[in-house]
Amino acid sequence: MATFMKQFQSIGFGLDQQTVTGYRKVDGFCFTVRIDVNRKMYTVSVPCAVHREEDARNMNAAFQQFAAERKKMVKSAFYDGRQISICYQSKELTINIMDGTKEAVDACMYYIRQYSAVPICPVCGRAIDTNIYAVENAVNAMCGDCFLNAQRKVSDSSSSEQRRVENVPLGIVGAILGGLAGAVLWVLFSLMGRIVIIAGALSALAGYLLYKKLACKISKKGLILSLVIAFIFLLIGMYFAIGLDVMNGVREYGVHLSLAEALCTQPTDSNYQDRRAMRCL
Ligand SMILES: [Zn+2]
Repeated sequence: MATFMKQFQSIGFGLDQQTVTGYRKVDGFCFTVRIDVNRKMYTVSVPCAVHREEDARNMNAAFQQFAAERKKMVKSAFYDGRQISICYQSKELTINIMDGTKEAVDACMYYIRQYSAVPICPVCGRAIDTNIYAVENAVNAMCGDCFLNAQRKVSDSSSSEQRRVENVPLGIVGAILGGLAGAVLWVLFSLMGRIVIIAGALSALAGYLLYKKLACKISKKGLILSLVIAFIFLLIGMYFAIGLDVMNGVREYGVHLSLAEALCTQPTDSNYQDRRAMRCL
């Protein structure tokens, strides 16, 4: 990139590093050089208009001829009525780009003068003063009005993106709902002797989805929050599942406990632990 920069500077061009596009205004005409580093190609183009149909045809023919004479270097050259475009291909891009660009600009300016072409805005097509602007991820020649329009469009879309902020409280409500469903599932799965880990996964997923749905979007913080909430509810679910287990377990020995009492009872019976372990498998 530094090489391109130096090359372009030496022929009076600027370089937009983000899009790898060279640019220069010559006598009111805005030239751009789009570099395709991977395909080892670069395209010099300049928007302009001629007054007569015939001139346009002749200018196009002149550039086709230009390309034909430089078959080794020039892949294509044409004038389509709105812009001149000359595409070079070179294995030694960094070495040849300066000469090619210079040659292309000279050729364009030669025919522009010969056919009395005028600069036009390629966006609105008007023959008015244009400049080279960078809007979002593109460097283009356009008039001031079109630039303002383009800029407005960009700021509109980016501000609507900004407006979609994360509604954390609603997201938490969503995660709690998901967690609650997960806890209930955990108890049910546990009672049915099913693999409870599935309930855990479902709970985490439900918490995440409901958080995202209600908060409109989910950040890293939101993701962690929804997982923590799901986990807390799973612990609660697990606690109730154990309580129910204790309640049922002691009933076999003729002891009747309420759920509240069972929840306060720590299972110490080794038989119970064994059964519990088996159920989890
Ligand atoms: Zn315009």
